[in-house]
Parts: sequence; structure tokens; C-alpha cells
Amino acid sequence: MATVVTITVPKTGRQIKLPTGLFINNQFVASVDSKETIECINPATEKPICSVVAGSAKDIDVAVAAAREAFNTTWGKNVTGFERSRLLNKLADLMERDAQELAELEALNNGKPVRVARDFDVGDSVGCLRYYAGWADKIVGQTIEIDNKTKFAYTKHEPIGVCGQIIPWNYPIMMWAWKVAPALACGCTIVMKPSEYTPLTVLKLSELIVEAGFPPGVINTIPSLGSVGGAALTAHKGVDKIAFTGSTITGRKIMAAAAESNLKKVSLELGGKSPQLIFESANLDQAANWAALGILYNTGQDCTAGSRVYVQDTVYDKFIQILVIKAKQLVIGDGFDEATGGGPVVSKVQYDKIWSYIEAGKQQGAQCILGGEKRSGKGYYVDPTIFTNITPDMKIVQEEIFGPVLSVGRFSTEDEGIKLANSTTYGLGAGLHSNDANQCMRVSNALEAGTVWVNQYNLLYNNVPFGGKKQSGIGRELGSNALEEYTSVKAVQWNYGEKLD
Ligand code: NAD
Repeated sequence: MATVVTITVPKTGRQIKLPTGLFINNQFVASVDSKETIECINPATEKPICSVVAGSAKDIDVAVAAAREAFNTTWGKNVTGFERSRLLNKLADLMERDAQELAELEALNNGKPVRVARDFDVGDSVGCLRYYAGWADKIVGQTIEIDNKTKFAYTKHEPIGVCGQIIPWNYPIMMWAWKVAPALACGCTIVMKPSEYTPLTVLKLSELIVEAGFPPGVINTIPSLGSVGGAALTAHKGVDKIAFTGSTITGRKIMAAAAESNLKKVSLELGGKSPQLIFESANLDQAANWAALGILYNTGQDCTAGSRVYVQDTVYDKFIQILVIKAKQLVIGDGFDEATGGGPVVSKVQYDKIWSYIEAGKQQGAQCILGGEKRSGKGYYVDPTIFTNITPDMKIVQEEIFGPVLSVGRFSTEDEGIKLANSTTYGLGAGLHSNDANQCMRVSNALEAGTVWVNQYNLLYNNVPFGGKKQSGIGRELGSNALEEYTSVKAVQWNYGEKLD
């Protein structure tokens, strides 16, 4: 099945033509050996949207071969940085042109509000492509003097080769942009595997790759189950690097498969259980705004969700009062209403997982002070839920829930707050709110996280590196650091005088 379906978007009535095949060599094709499909569901209605081809392990072989051919001919070392930059900018322009359509498709498949998808997911992704377009002709090495009469060396940052890229469902467009933009800027070719829950916008973006003028095989997209296409890509000996965003459990499998196959380079952006510390000197109104945003943005389906908040005991009661008011202000509903701040969660699996954590919180003795009750009717909706009276051993305190469920605890001294904040196996994000500059410096140094936000939370910029410590990941995306993930440094040593007797 390599067909084009027409999707009618409810509410807006927009008709979107969507190719449903595998995208290889700039064409949408059927699987070489499988009749499997993936059914995509609208999480707001629980109804099917359409089905797309599910790629097999053999399709991954075909896509990797296409990416290798492109790397060796039209791309890789055969394309200038100026041309890579031009094409990335062109792709960004096309995404910007189609922002509304892409946002509606994203909202349909993922559930997030159209407004958020358009202004943030698509907007930031366009910015990401342009940011790396800026880098494409500025990837340079060093000239190293050995001695000034006979020898010197220079380094080249060469594209690493064929990259497998595996992304999750929570930001399908943005995770795509974070992966493809630096890889293309560096001259790599790509086999992309989107999440089986949200392949639609990545297929739509594949059309734009052709329109932008990328040569065939530079970017290939294989929607597939993780255990099939994801596993095949990770274990493939023709893949030079794997870039993965997803859960820590899958991250372990990726690393093991990379080690057992060809020791391909690996970067992992994994889960989190990120803390926010609210100190007594903080502007409590502002801190509550950031705490609510931290857990409720994207309905909590955010790797940096600030899912643990610890408040200094002198301001605890006051802060909780403000926080509950702020959290109640978020409208969770149909993503096609402009007033909606958060949509349903992405799938039945995710919905059931979140509710099992809410039940565990209640059973283990935490106090639910907001939410915690199921809605009736269709759609995978979960309202903002806040637990207090937590203890460090509770499941809701230790494990990533990936929903709008916040655990709030208290501390008395700075050291105690830091200890609580650092008390999980994760280290992705952390926040602190204080009006004492010395304290901000001390605490930001002590927090074990790849990103620390001071008097704010969860803001990301394309020119600031992002990634995790501890079991939240390896490597960095965004910023100039991401270029290191897609290049290999070659040292060329020159002798222009020394004779060997
Ligand atoms: P997941 O690990 O289940 O799936 C992620 C991707 O991996 C999907 O494309 C899936 O098909 C694929 N996959 C599954 N099994 C695989 C296997 N054996 N081999 C290769 N690929 C496989 O995660 P998810 O549920 O899609 O996403 C949620 C998780 O992603 C959360 O833990 C979240 O914290 C994390 N996340 C992290 C970041 C970050 O930047 N650190 C960003 C977004 C999401």
C-alpha cells in the first residue's frame, strides 16, 4: 500500500492529502515484503484517522542502502556547506508556508492544541532548521603547529555517515527537526523512524524534502514499530550513528544493539523526573506560574516535565494555595479550540499508564489535592492532578509518569532541598526559584541535571545545548554541541621537512 489518503480535519474542514507509504529515495513506496500497516488514532475522539505502511526490517535495509548511496554520491563529502545551508533554509521556508496545515495534522494525530503546534512546535522547528543552516558552512577544524620547520597537522570535522534517527510521539515535528537539521548541516544522510503513534506529520514533511530539492536518499523515512524497524535500524551494520529520543528502557536496548552490531556512535535523549525547588525568597506568584507550566505544558508529556516540586516549609502553605489556582486555569480540551491550553494525552496506552500512577499515588498514601478523577465521555483526557504528603520512595516520586501529575514535597534547609532534588536516577532538567543570587549560583551548581532553569522553567532555545546526565541520556542536541554528534574528527599530519634515516 503506497497510496495517498485525503484527511478531512474536523472543525477546520481542511482537506489534507497525505502519502502513506515509506519514503525512500524521494519516493513513497510500499514495503518490499510486508503487508502490515499502522493505524493512527485521533486521541480526542478515539477514532482512526488513517493507516500508513509499517516498514519491515528489509525496508530498513533498502532505506539504509539508499542513504549510503546518497552519502557516497550527491551528499557526504560531495556537497558544499553552502548548498546544505541553502537547502535547509528552503526546507524551513516551506515548513513556514505550511505551518497551519502541519499544525492541524499534528493536533489530529498527537492531540496537542493547534495553536501550540503552530506557534511553538512548527515555529521552533523552522527556527531549528535555520539555525543549523547557519552552521552548515561554518564547520571547521584546527591548524595545529607541531614544530615550525618540518611539521604541522590539521583537523577536519567530517560527516559521520549514515545516521539512524528514532523519535518519540510527544513532539513529532520538533523531534524530527532537532534530529535532521544538525545531521544535514554536517553532511550526513538519514534513515528516520518516527513513533508508530505519530507518523503523519513526518510523512507530510517528507513531501517538503522533495519540494525543497534534496537529492534522493538524503533523508528516508520508515514508519514502523519500535521492535521491528527501530530494532533493525539500531542493529544495522550499515548505520554509522544512531540518534535516539525516547524512554530510558528503550535507550538501554539501543545502546546494547549498537555495541553488539558495529559499535556505531550513539546519542540518547531519555526520560526524566525533573525537580523544581521553591525557596522562601522567591516571588511565589511567578514560581507557581513556572511550576504549573513545568508540569502541564504538553499535558505533562514532556521529557523535562517538572514533575517534582519541593517548597521551603516557611512558604509551603502559601505556595500550594497559589499553585492550585494557577493549575486550575489551564483548559484541557479539544485541541481545535483556540482557548485550549492542553489536549488529550496521545494514546490509550499512555492514558492507562497515567491513571495507574494516579491510583498508585492514592494507594501509597499521597494526598490528591487537585484532579485525580476520570472524566466521562470520549478522548484520552487527564486533568491537572497534584499530590502532596509525598515520601521519597513513592512510585509517583521516583518514576516518570509523562502526564499532568505533579508531586509536591517540602524541605527546610538548602542542603535538604538539593538532596531531595537529586534523589532519582534521572538528570535531565531542574529548576530553582529564589531571589538570592548567591543561592541561585550555589544551587544551580549542585543540581544534577543537563539543564538548570533559574527563576523560569522549560524554555528551550535552538542555540542552547540540551541533554541529560545520569540515566537521562548521553550527548547533546541543539546548539553547536549537536554538531559534534554528527561529525567525526580526522587529524591530518603533514611532514614537509623531517627525513627518516
Ligand atoms: P519509547 O522509548 O517507547 O519510543 C521511542 C521511539 O523508540 C519510538 O519511535 C519507538 O518506536 C522506538 N522504539 C521502541 N522500541 C524500540 C527498540 N527496541 N529499538 C529501537 N527503537 C525502539 O518512548 P515514547 O513512549 O515514544 O516516548 C516517551 C519517552 O521519551 C519518555 O520517556 C520521555 O521522557 C522521552 N523523551 C525524551 C526526550 C529528551 O529529549 N530527553 C524528549 C522527548 C521524549
